[in-house]
Amino acid sequence: MQYYSLGKQSPHVNFKTAAITGQAPDKGLYFPIDIPKFTAAQIERFKTLDKASLAFEVMKPYVGGTIDDDSLQEICAETINFDFPLVTITSSISSLELFHGPTLAFKDVGARFMSRCLGYFSQQEKAASKLLGSNISSPITTVLVATSGDTGGAVANGFLGVEGVNVIILYPKGKVSLIQELQLTTCGQNITALEVDGSFDDCQAIVKDAFMDGELNQQYNLTSANSINVARWLPQQLYYFFAWQQWVKLYQDEQGNYPAMNIVVPSGNFGNICAGMMAKASGLPMGHFVAACNANDVVTRYLATEKYAIHQAIATVSNAMDVGNPSNFVRIMEILQNNFTHLTQALTSYSINDATTKSTIARVYKTNNYTLDPHGAVAFAAAEIYLSKNNFAKAVILETAHPVKFPEVVEEAIGEKIAIPASVQFLLDKQKVSIPLAANYAAFKQWMLQ
Ligand SMILES: *Cc1c(COP(=O)(O)O)cnc(C)c1O
Repeated sequence: MQYYSLGKQSPHVNFKTAAITGQAPDKGLYFPIDIPKFTAAQIERFKTLDKASLAFEVMKPYVGGTIDDDSLQEICAETINFDFPLVTITSSISSLELFHGPTLAFKDVGARFMSRCLGYFSQQEKAASKLLGSNISSPITTVLVATSGDTGGAVANGFLGVEGVNVIILYPKGKVSLIQELQLTTCGQNITALEVDGSFDDCQAIVKDAFMDGELNQQYNLTSANSINVARWLPQQLYYFFAWQQWVKLYQDEQGNYPAMNIVVPSGNFGNICAGMMAKASGLPMGHFVAACNANDVVTRYLATEKYAIHQAIATVSNAMDVGNPSNFVRIMEILQNNFTHLTQALTSYSINDATTKSTIARVYKTNNYTLDPHGAVAFAAAEIYLSKNNFAKAVILETAHPVKFPEVVEEAIGEKIAIPASVQFLLDKQKVSIPLAANYAAFKQWMLQ
């Protein structure tokens, strides 16, 4: 499998190069030359495969021989070694819970897969240079990542201890929750946390400048660990296969029929929903896609007006979706042949405000005894609108984070404390280690070059 740049000005590369470099030299996003097509017989078999084998079969064509089968099998099994339960909330809405990984948000899967791929490639390079009699063991890659909360923890956890890869995380001081901060500042080893005296936008601006800085790029092989990177983006397809396996179990009748699995995805950078659309394009039988957005409604507006107007990110209570210029939307357009009519047939989008998000958390808790996090609540509210216009339909919402990651909003809405899950309890005894940094590029560069 080769990948081309959506910028169309760079040479094709294989999965390994795409994963190591992140973005193409022309700054375009990488996209597979052809989307693998699973046969009906394969899809039928997928119904009963165990998760790890299914993950291997889905990812294998994308990895395109750059990782041997045994290693890829091991990478896949490790990546998804936790649950992805489909939980019924109402008679028409189920929740695919993607927060049972180590950092309690869906980004764990992408981060775990990408880190293991880079670890594999690093070992491969090391072995190759040994053969040539060289002892160079410099890291193949430095992962640079700005986070508003969730990405940092998932990347820190995913890359911890991966040989040959160093990770530098920039996060805004005082603007992430307690659990989030502990997740990204207590790892040590190859993970460094920079506590930036500024906003998430400042962190992101520093990272962007770093990628453009020739001097810095001479010293470091910099790469990003956000959904621009194919190794983080593509494994997100697996959620949809796992949802579908459970959907079929739940609803398939004796004739083999089951209701369409419509999917509602809380969307910011549109990486997750775009991965779902890839899964559908490769043959997974899925229904309609709904992009649930907060006040950051570039795509919602585009679908309504055919005008694509990016803007500054607006702060909301579902802050992991506060994105004013969603980077993966170009990939969605590529799947749909850059055709606006195809887009409107494949995708619907609703924008949900903070008041509705909070009242949805309160109402669903009271009525259905289910605790949504703010992102899941945006999806739930969007699902209700979609279903009200499509009688008899059913939908799956993706619950992308555990509510405990957003305690202020959720506890106020439900009027109760949320128990901290045992799996993150241990963090509370750990000591935060971070390096304070002024919110400007010069300070960052000086620190990097020192
Ligand atoms: C990152 C994130 C999202 C948005 O996902 P995209 O792939 O950027 O659209 C939604 N919810 C949570 C909890 C997240 O961390």
